[in-house]
Amino acid sequence: MDAFLVVHPPNLYYLCGFSGSSGALLVGRRATLLTDGRYTIQARQEVRAARVKIGPRWQESLAALLRPKGRGKLRVGVEAAHLSVSQLAALRRAAGRRIRWAALEGQVEALRRAKDAEEVRRMRAAAALASRIVGEVVRRLHPGMLETEVAAEIEYRMRRAGASGPAFETIVASGARAALPHARATGKPLRKNELVVLDLGAILRHYSSDLTRTVYLGRAPSRIRTWYAAVLEAQQAAREAIQPGITAGEVDAAARGVLRRAGLARYFVHSTGHGLGLEVHEEPRLARSRSERLEAGMVVTVEPGIYVQGIGGIRIEDDVLVTERGSETLTTAPRELLEI
Ligand code: ZN
Ligand code: ZN
Repeated sequence: MDAFLVVHPPNLYYLCGFSGSSGALLVGRRATLLTDGRYTIQARQEVRAARVKIGPRWQESLAALLRPKGRGKLRVGVEAAHLSVSQLAALRRAAGRRIRWAALEGQVEALRRAKDAEEVRRMRAAAALASRIVGEVVRRLHPGMLETEVAAEIEYRMRRAGASGPAFETIVASGARAALPHARATGKPLRKNELVVLDLGAILRHYSSDLTRTVYLGRAPSRIRTWYAAVLEAQQAAREAIQPGITAGEVDAAARGVLRRAGLARYFVHSTGHGLGLEVHEEPRLARSRSERLEAGMVVTVEPGIYVQGIGGIRIEDDVLVTERGSETLTTAPRELLEI
């Protein structure tokens, strides 16, 4: 490539520190961040290791920058997963025929997989914040409280503690709704003798945490205790399996094996976890038969769960840092079944 055009905001932040929501970084012999007048001050304050060019529309500034000297064609890579078809068409119109655009996949994402010491510091802080807040909120749960009230309480407390926001829409799923792994909080009140799944994460200095705890309102019946114990054992098995060199698929298999032996495999309807960092879902994915090997510095979630229609669901999720010798679990909230 003669140059590479980066447009995905988390990748822009990662490469040059720009945190605006619209712009592009052209990386060639030198790097130029292109954005518009809304971000003049911000870009000058934030951007490192790149010059800043402000124009009415970054696509036009880009076309001016890319006018090739001489007669040859320029090959410019674009982020295939993030540049829309219409944006690419606009670039083609603006830049003319002498640019050959090449679709590249996951170049910056691959760099982002392993975190450096400063990123780990931020992620540890984001994980500690989520751990503290889930503890505070769990103590306040009571029958009659609406799922949306619980979600509001969680997000309010995150902001009060310095988070720039939730890392994703907070999940509060009670009763039969807990069987929906990605349930939105609704106006349903919590009731006695129900499971409640709380899945939350905070963004702190751009980095995310992602944590799930499941509580029971009342004294859990023995079937729920047995299921909970199986999910906890599966989660622990996967966390203990994590170390440099193991494949993502082997971590997934560690969790899945425990649930299979407990006769619950058919209720585990998603993969074991995902990478975490500037975004909530990143590489690597801890899913069935993935051959990618874990390496020190990666941060992944470990979140096996079971979901039984008409009854509810149980999920336990923690954030785990792969270290040189094994792993460190960054989220610290207690994992035992909480009966309130
Ligand atoms: Zn989660
Ligand atoms: Zn997750």
